[in-house]
Amino acid sequence: MSVLLEASNLKRTYRMGSSRVRALDGVSLRIEAGEFVSIVGPSGCGKSSLLQVLGLLDRPDEGTYAIDGRDVLNLGDRELSELRSHHLAFIFQFFNLLPKTDAQRNVELPLLYQGLPSSVAKERALEALTHVELEQRKTHAPGELSGGEQQRVAIARALAARPRILFADEPTGNLNSEQAEEFLDRLLELNRRGITVLLVTHDEHVASRAPRRIRMLDGKIFSDMGTATPATPEQKEAEERSRPALSLSPKFQENARSAAVSLRANTLRTCLAMLGVVVGTASLITMMAVGAGARAQARERIEKLGANLLMLLPDRGNGDSGSAEPTRLSLDDADALSALSGTDVGLNRVNPVIVLPGATIAKGAVSTSARVLG
Ligand code: ADP
Ligand code: MG
Repeated sequence: MSVLLEASNLKRTYRMGSSRVRALDGVSLRIEAGEFVSIVGPSGCGKSSLLQVLGLLDRPDEGTYAIDGRDVLNLGDRELSELRSHHLAFIFQFFNLLPKTDAQRNVELPLLYQGLPSSVAKERALEALTHVELEQRKTHAPGELSGGEQQRVAIARALAARPRILFADEPTGNLNSEQAEEFLDRLLELNRRGITVLLVTHDEHVASRAPRRIRMLDGKIFSDMGTATPATPEQKEAEERSRPALSLSPKFQENARSAAVSLRANTLRTCLAMLGVVVGTASLITMMAVGAGARAQARERIEKLGANLLMLLPDRGNGDSGSAEPTRLSLDDADALSALSGTDVGLNRVNPVIVLPGATIAKGAVSTSARVLG
């Protein structure tokens, strides 16, 4: 067997305001591939904190930690989450299933996040649900399943991802003793099939079923009893299969898939967002169309007034021509301009106009002063 997890001198202190709690106070341990280890101790001794650090859900303040010989404390968040989703699986006391999502979808989702095609995810989810004898209940939401059944869905979810290491934190905490026994049988079976198991519990009896038992007290390892069971041929084979797997897979496809998954998982939110975009775009297009229409109408009106109309006005004598007499245009001038039409000056028509600014017009007894155009 080979060393799978190796941690040394892990320390973790939680700060809450001015108070500090040292949850891990220098924990060192080494776990080989294929082991089944329980971590037991009284409430508050740091078991969950240790599991969180080993499961890459939390970072220690001090110490070193390597998985498969690779230092994992200096990885970025992306690499960590990739490592978690491909190689680690978790089972918790409260099952942590999505409440409105049926059993099959709960098992499928992490596989889709892993980047598997949906057909493969579906197949694997069904296989895993069949393994925990829940294939008949695959369309049921967690609320329609018993505690034992919900924890079996959680096992199926962990199993379907084909992890190398399974972390379980008080997984029997909400099960009755019969369900707990059955659950532990299943974990032992998974372990025989090659998965390394780390089980955290405060229950001595549950812990005693693990071949190796680590006891914690006040953030430290107090005792480490029992030894790794020798690897079964199945474990060896499983380990070989997963060996090259600690690599990182192409990002783009995975990102696209997880985006699709998250859009599908939040259908209502997705539809509302789409509606927002549609309404926004439609109103923008409408505004632009209204603007363009108004502009076209204005241009049409101006053209009707005569955008190509040229007015020739006489000099009223107040310019700098020197003559006191105002110049007048005569009909001869109009004729002369008419003669130009058709030449390259480009006149179409010439129209003489006379304006009388202060004429008096009368009908019967009524008369008024008006500006007359003729
Ligand atoms: P266990 O799982 O063994 O019951 P934990 O690891 O959960 O213990 O907690 C160890 C100690 O750290 C406890 O005293 C707990 O109150 C404290 N603790 C755990 N998590 C936090 C946190 N997020 N913030 C502050 N204190 C915490
Ligand atoms: Mg705990």
